[in-house]
Amino acid sequence: MNSHMIILKNDEEIEFMRAANRLVGMTLGELSHHIKPGITTLELDRIAEQFIRDHGAIPTFLGYGGFPNSICTSVNENVVHGIPNNKPLDEGDVVSIDCGTNLNGFCGDSAYTFCVGEVKEEVKKLLRVTRESLYKGIGQAMEDNRIGDIGSTIQSYCETNGYSVVRELVGHGIGRQMHEAPEVPNYGRRGTGPLIKNGMCIAIEPMINMGGRKVIFENDGWTVRTKDRKPSAHFEHTIAIRNGKADILSTFEFIQETV
Ligand code: MG
Ligand code: MG
Repeated sequence: MNSHMIILKNDEEIEFMRAANRLVGMTLGELSHHIKPGITTLELDRIAEQFIRDHGAIPTFLGYGGFPNSICTSVNENVVHGIPNNKPLDEGDVVSIDCGTNLNGFCGDSAYTFCVGEVKEEVKKLLRVTRESLYKGIGQAMEDNRIGDIGSTIQSYCETNGYSVVRELVGHGIGRQMHEAPEVPNYGRRGTGPLIKNGMCIAIEPMINMGGRKVIFENDGWTVRTKDRKPSAHFEHTIAIRNGKADILSTFEFIQETV
């Protein structure tokens, strides 16, 4: 199959996608009750993997391109793709957790940046603005708009707030595969990119830096961090376009909110 082809989903397929994404939301919710100073990201990984398997699904990230764990855990200056490890989280850290499931052959993908204990107000603001930018992007995901309308809206909202948008990593189509066409950048120009159609399923995932937009790819082969080592935030939802507008398939409803 041509990997540039956008695979539209019918209503039945979208309901399978909703189930996989709801499980991702439940997993993030379960993790939110464990995130506190002293817990390690490896412990969080074990909780997530067990929870996903107990619900009859497979953790999509485990072994994906050789990734060693079931969730990505990216602390403070780490943007995405952090590998869980034995270092305890500290009071004042933020940790972005990205989680994927495969349930009955369909993929879920969602991410959330959590506070560990009390976090500085300026960092909480970065989290709030990034999360708001996700919903503003989702608001542009409607039939007859273009993919560039999503990124353009996310970029202008975040830059207006003094933050910068990572360019090297983008959102994506999703379905039976975690990564399908099209790419969904968090930056760009209105009126550009593929036309948005009913049946499209995409993951929108702003990665927003407090400082400059430049990132470094670490030698572990996975971790992406900010060049200036200032904090970064990452929020992601999987959505479907149905009846002309966005139907959010993943959910933050199970998460114990901290910002
Ligand atoms: Mg993700
Ligand atoms: Mg994704």
